[in-house]
Amino acid sequence: MNPTIRTLTLALFAAAGCACAVAAEQPAPPPEEHPVLGQIAAAVSAAQMQATVQTLVGFGTRHTLSDTQSDTRGIGAARRWAKSRFAAISQDCGGCLSIVTPAQTVTGKRIPTPAEVMDVVAIQKGTTDPDRVIILTAHIDSRVTDVMNATADAPGADDNGSGVALVLETARVLSHYKFGATIVYGILSGEEQGLYGGKVLAKYAHDQGWRVETDLNNDIVGGNRGQNGVVDNTRIRLFSEGTREAESAKVARLRRYEGGELDGPSRNVARDIKRLAEHWIPNWRVDLVYRVDRFGRGSDHEAFNELGYPAVCFRESAEDYRHQHQDLRTEDGVVYGDTIDHVDFDYLAKVTATNAIAAAAMAWAPPPPDGFKIAGGVSPDTTLNWQALSGPAAGGLAGYRVYWRDTAEAAWTHSRWAGTATELKLPGVVIDDWAFGVASVSKEGFESPVEYPGPQGAFWPPAETDAPAKP
Ligand SMILES: [Zn+2]
Repeated sequence: MNPTIRTLTLALFAAAGCACAVAAEQPAPPPEEHPVLGQIAAAVSAAQMQATVQTLVGFGTRHTLSDTQSDTRGIGAARRWAKSRFAAISQDCGGCLSIVTPAQTVTGKRIPTPAEVMDVVAIQKGTTDPDRVIILTAHIDSRVTDVMNATADAPGADDNGSGVALVLETARVLSHYKFGATIVYGILSGEEQGLYGGKVLAKYAHDQGWRVETDLNNDIVGGNRGQNGVVDNTRIRLFSEGTREAESAKVARLRRYEGGELDGPSRNVARDIKRLAEHWIPNWRVDLVYRVDRFGRGSDHEAFNELGYPAVCFRESAEDYRHQHQDLRTEDGVVYGDTIDHVDFDYLAKVTATNAIAAAAMAWAPPPPDGFKIAGGVSPDTTLNWQALSGPAAGGLAGYRVYWRDTAEAAWTHSRWAGTATELKLPGVVIDDWAFGVASVSKEGFESPVEYPGPQGAFWPPAETDAPAKP
């Protein structure tokens, strides 16, 4: 939050003679400035990503059902090239990435005969809390007007060469650092045929027993010249679900009375990304869209949401539908097709920096705590409590910070350092009037996303209250 507001809030508490003893006995909060995030943002290379998209376009088509044997054309060649890029990045960091290729043979409306959907995934294992995982994803497959046409040229420069370039570049930049949690870089197939690659990786995460803190999905993130004439290279849209898709009836009822319809963990991940990116990237806005995705359209983050995992999706600021899912052609003087000339690589670099900063900050921070509850009905005060982090998650923990905001505010506006206490009373703050949250903070000051109280806000809800669907 704005330091002035925070100072003012503390001063007001002190002036009111409130129960500040808890805060006073606690160690001072760690620093909030992390120049390393600015260095990460600056290390992102637009030229590197331009070369990546040029290479991807060169495979002719990357349709999921295209040739898998050729070394020069089709999705097989494209996947093998992506794998070789991960291998090269890993070689440069002393083998810091392990590469896996989870796959499933699927059939469906857009896959009439069984076909293998294979993802190419690089894993940068965390040093202290490796089971906690932050995932970045983008689909590599492409299409033309007829979604079943697996042979026509489908350059897919923006949809979704831009996203693949972002994931590879983020891996290159972040491979120079070590993180407490694991970061997973996923290049997915089968998106255009029915979001299959997301399902493959979400199931893989589930089977590995990963504690998925979030999936940051990127799909069409390199253009900023809209079909409606809007040109805007200063903003990115970030979509997130407000309530968990995998919410149980019991939790839905609780949420109806205690709130949280705007505070599922995916939404609070989105708020965290906005806070970080707008601080570290100049002339840049992350516009939160309170919606799972664009109207009638979807992407691979939904497969993670279906399993109860927090997941969000980045989309470019202004889309031109003449350059998505189109046969390459000129009609009545209008040029159609998803070609590289419609990708702005300096813009894509800012979207990539946004992802890299967010993934790094989350992987350096501890996870949000479990068991977060609030109490204070029919009382002038609100009391918040949560379980202390334990085990590997507690490594490097400095303490917790509580947040609150007016229920109709979009972003957190008030906060207070709780130190290592697991309970904090906010005297004079009436529970009915505010939304509350808590975040864990590392000794270096890296902060987890804010978590809303109750199973509706929990990143890892207890299985009995909100069991995720079976993959
Ligand atoms: Zn796409």
